[in-house]
Amino acid sequence: MSKVAVVTGAARGIGLATAKQFLAKGWSVALIDWDQAELDLACGELGSEAQGFHCDVSDEVQVQAMIAAVLARFGRLDALVNNAGVAEFGPIEDCDFATWKRVMATNLDGPFLCTQAAVPALKEHGGAVLNIASISGLRASTLRVAYGTSKAAVIQLTKQQAAELGEYGIRANCVCPGPVRTKLAMAVHSPEIIAAYHDAIPLNRYGSEDEIANLITFLCSEEASYITGQVVAADGGFESTGVGLP
Ligand code: NAD
Repeated sequence: MSKVAVVTGAARGIGLATAKQFLAKGWSVALIDWDQAELDLACGELGSEAQGFHCDVSDEVQVQAMIAAVLARFGRLDALVNNAGVAEFGPIEDCDFATWKRVMATNLDGPFLCTQAAVPALKEHGGAVLNIASISGLRASTLRVAYGTSKAAVIQLTKQQAAELGEYGIRANCVCPGPVRTKLAMAVHSPEIIAAYHDAIPLNRYGSEDEIANLITFLCSEEASYITGQVVAADGGFESTGVGLP
């Protein structure tokens, strides 16, 4: 029986690249997203070991139903990738409370709710929880108060998960991507921000979805069987060396 991954926010971007890599490695994949049209488009080309499940990861009832549906379809769960995310951009004074709560709901409540729902199935064989934070959770960047705070919390959530779930053979790790040209990033990255990132990143470029997915699928694999509680940046060297960020 092939291993089964749940990947949230998988209709496009880093999540879709991750789903494709799991499939290429022989896993079955449940692609989770709240955008049904994009989900249908993505799943249309992925074959029978992939299935899309419509779910808002910030809704507890939907998340419980989604995990139950995944288990009914695939029979087991080996990895949960908490990737779904949203961003805001603007000064603190303009981040109204509704925006703050919207960002926290997807970026922080989502990983908590999905983990809680997935843990009973993960306990059956051991497995992996992989949370996607951001370099914005490792260091402050201006104009992203809700996003940066949510991602810093996801880093701590990862450590809590690793501490508590290790005894069940469940590993928890966190990937912090640097900038990648996805819809999420390009909605807020102006030409000035793009140029500044290029200057501040030792590799002088944005990453690709596949470069992030490589790390995600590795950390979920048996090759990473003694790695847990780790926060790893895939960011072209930005976090350890970066100078100045817009
Ligand atoms: P993206 O916008 O291309 O994809 C995000 C996906 O998540 C979309 O398909 C969207 O519909 C889905 N989604 C959002 N909220 C959801 C919800 N509540 N329930 C279900 N699905 C939901 O973005 P991406 O760049 O691929 O982002 C993936 C992850 O990587 C996010 O957590 C993001 O914060 C993180 N990240 C991205 C970058 C970057 O530069 N692109 C950098 C650092 C971190």
